[in-house]
Amino acid sequence: MYSRQTQKLILSTPKSTIRTTITKTVVFQRLIVSLALAIGTALLIILTSFQSSAILVTSASPPLKPHPLPPTLTQWQDSTNSGDYFSQVSPTQVGYLVWSQFPIRVYVESTQAVNSKQAQDWVKTVSQAVQEWSVYLPLAIVEQPKDADITIVRKTPPLQTSPGSKILRARSAQTTYEMYVSKNNLLSHRFTILLSPSQTGQYLLAATRHEFGHALGIWGHSPLPSDALYFSQVRNSPPISARDVNTLKLVYEQPTSLGWSVGTFSVKNSHET
Ligand SMILES: [Zn+2]
Repeated sequence: MYSRQTQKLILSTPKSTIRTTITKTVVFQRLIVSLALAIGTALLIILTSFQSSAILVTSASPPLKPHPLPPTLTQWQDSTNSGDYFSQVSPTQVGYLVWSQFPIRVYVESTQAVNSKQAQDWVKTVSQAVQEWSVYLPLAIVEQPKDADITIVRKTPPLQTSPGSKILRARSAQTTYEMYVSKNNLLSHRFTILLSPSQTGQYLLAATRHEFGHALGIWGHSPLPSDALYFSQVRNSPPISARDVNTLKLVYEQPTSLGWSVGTFSVKNSHET
């Protein structure tokens, strides 16, 4: 079962930036680690609801523009015409969560667990699910977490209260992202996926496949159980479906502020009246 919690950041438009008196340096600092969102997997309660809260107000996100479609998605043709669930995917305050620097760097945590066989199996299964997605977007496994765009951690997600309820619930997976400004001045994002160590085999494979789909930009859920991004965990979890890929392709055709330079705005030291 899956539910979603969001924490939104209010990013102002370039227009309002011109009206601010803050310096460029401050703008950049405020953009760093300025937004976090989570899609979690609930174990106990069937719930698909959104919880939003503004955490801080900042300025100067680049204007929304689409990136060129990656060749892996340009080549994708759905001969079955099975449709998509793009309408269920939410844009964020910075547009769609599109990657534009390839390959996307993925780090899979290899823990020094007491039971090393179990830990090895965990890494193997998680890597297999990641590999499935590499058909559609170029991915590279990196050895250091500091180099990663998407980090997958073998850790039980924190307990979370349901919206409108005080009951704490356990989840088997959680996907969050944060924003930062890269060294070459691009508005960037990175994802962290927490996957419970207690999950194994087909369940772990399905959970990784599902959460990784979120991290690639499918920030929403399918209403059909035949899709990997179906909102609820099902007994026989399906592979990545044509509808999943159709949706992913549509996401990558959308405008975003991510991957564009934040340094191109003029910030004036005067107020507009
Ligand atoms: Zn989900």
